[in-house]
Amino acid sequence: MVIPEQKIEEIRAAANIYDFISPHIALRKRGRNYIGLCPFHNEKTPSFTVSEEKQIFHCFGCHAGGNVYRFIMDYQKISFIEAVQDVAKQVGISVEVTQTEQTEGPSEQEMLYDVNTIAARYFLENLLNAPEGETARKYFENRKIKLSTIRTFGLGYALPAWEAFINFARDKNIELNKAVQLGLIGKTNEGRLYDKFSGRIIFPIFSSTGRVIAFGGRILENRENTAKYLNSPESVVYTKGRVLYGLSHAKDDIRKLNKAILVEGYMDLISLHQAGVKNVVAVSGTALTEEQVQLLSRYTKNVVLLFDADAAGMKAAMRSIELLLQRDMEIKIASLPSGEDPDSYVNTYGKQAFEKIIDRAQNFLEYQTDYFQKQGLFNEPSTTADAIRELMKPVALIQDELKRSLLIKTIAKKFNLREMLLEDELRKTLAGHQREDQIEAKRRKNVESKVLAEILPADKQIPQHIFNLEVELIKLLFEGSEKVVELIVHHINDEMLLSEANAAIFNEVAEAYNADADLTAGALIGRIKDEKIQQYISNITLEKYSISKMWEELHPDEVRGNILEKYTKDVLCKYKHAHLDENAKEFYLEMENAQNDDDKIIIMKRLRELNREKQLISDELL
Ligand SMILES: [Zn+2]
Repeated sequence: MVIPEQKIEEIRAAANIYDFISPHIALRKRGRNYIGLCPFHNEKTPSFTVSEEKQIFHCFGCHAGGNVYRFIMDYQKISFIEAVQDVAKQVGISVEVTQTEQTEGPSEQEMLYDVNTIAARYFLENLLNAPEGETARKYFENRKIKLSTIRTFGLGYALPAWEAFINFARDKNIELNKAVQLGLIGKTNEGRLYDKFSGRIIFPIFSSTGRVIAFGGRILENRENTAKYLNSPESVVYTKGRVLYGLSHAKDDIRKLNKAILVEGYMDLISLHQAGVKNVVAVSGTALTEEQVQLLSRYTKNVVLLFDADAAGMKAAMRSIELLLQRDMEIKIASLPSGEDPDSYVNTYGKQAFEKIIDRAQNFLEYQTDYFQKQGLFNEPSTTADAIRELMKPVALIQDELKRSLLIKTIAKKFNLREMLLEDELRKTLAGHQREDQIEAKRRKNVESKVLAEILPADKQIPQHIFNLEVELIKLLFEGSEKVVELIVHHINDEMLLSEANAAIFNEVAEAYNADADLTAGALIGRIKDEKIQQYISNITLEKYSISKMWEELHPDEVRGNILEKYTKDVLCKYKHAHLDENAKEFYLEMENAQNDDDKIIIMKRLRELNREKQLISDELL
């Protein structure tokens, strides 16, 4: 399905973002923007901001943000194309969705999605009808997976051949290098192509909006030197740590029940779904990541972990617990009788028995204390001390003081531990965190928002004041003023920008400017495909604190456009000066180390040139 970029932009320009958000969320005016309670996370004070002027939204609580399409996609949980169609209908523009290529052609990303979709259909077809698919059909039959479930999750089978998929891809005119990029086709050292998933049953991995972005493949017969599971490599459409398996199938139920069950494997999730337990997501193979937690926190704050009760499972669970606690999630842990996994359990005992297990889930601290007690750690003072230290580590991550002390009280009482002992240990851990926080705060000093800190590369030393000016320039690009964009595009280039994200944004805006395209924030943000960068932009451009606003307050009588231009010139001047000052710093260092007067004179000359350059910049801009 393809809608030309131009049409997408035409539809967006005809829609007012306010009209699309206000029917769902009570918005009230504050300053130039509207604010309301965020639909993507639970909150009591509004941090969800909508700008009619810029045609974007941003939540300062969970960092969701973007233009009207992003809102519709996330709110209604539909794909991009569907969101475009939806908006088009409401603004009365007709779109013809065609299968054929438009003059402009689909983006690289779209083409990769298409290859994945076609491949997924092919694997499904093999599973359902190919004679060689019999073993795979048997496999699912043995695991009691119904046909309807196979279709729901698009399960499939890759024929056990060298070139079955390759031949199919050739027939379908798929560019083979795209399939190589996506990890569907592999290349031997001699350059020969082969089917990467050959002989595996296939689990398509969907984005939260339901598009096929990757595949997981499980071997059917254990063969030597072959991994049991194979996953697609990361690609333009797939970043491993940012996807939760099954989320697109589960999100409605997660929202409805306000609870998510986290399991380990594909089959666990699929069996549960088939049994009617649908608020389930799987981490599948990798450890839970911060991004996955953030993704999940958009739908619920309540998570039940269902992991193997053995030591390894426990260790994996602890790491997840820490991440979840940092996001202020409520965590419970459920465990199955030993020897059972969710898949086997629900197949044997059914939905109701499983739901009982979930209802009996213990608070994470209770669970862990229980576990330590069973291991006999509280029998001796020395092991007790270690165990308590371990227990308090995650507790210290809970922000809410009241919640913390309640937890401690419950645990102390239930396990007959001295409350004081727990509190002392907690205090020590908290003091340690505070020190870490202070160090972290120093690093983040002056960085205005969390999202900003996230995209700021930690290893790269960017002088803070230059970075702040850089962000200010990026902000100005989204003010909707052609004159401002012109000034910035003429005075700087992407190579000057020290942060990669900023440089990428700058290039997109410069391209839009050169193409005479719409320069409102809502249009520009749509050109950027990376969700994280979209959030970053909506964050900085809607930030409550803005220097340009202070300028406006200082010059109440001037026309807004004039102030903005003056301000832009001021920032540009400071930014270019700051770069030159960095050079000057190096010269001063050289000067200190200079061996003789001749060297010093040369350095002095260079410094004078720098100063002259600075003066020229001031003359031109101020
Ligand atoms: Zn939010």
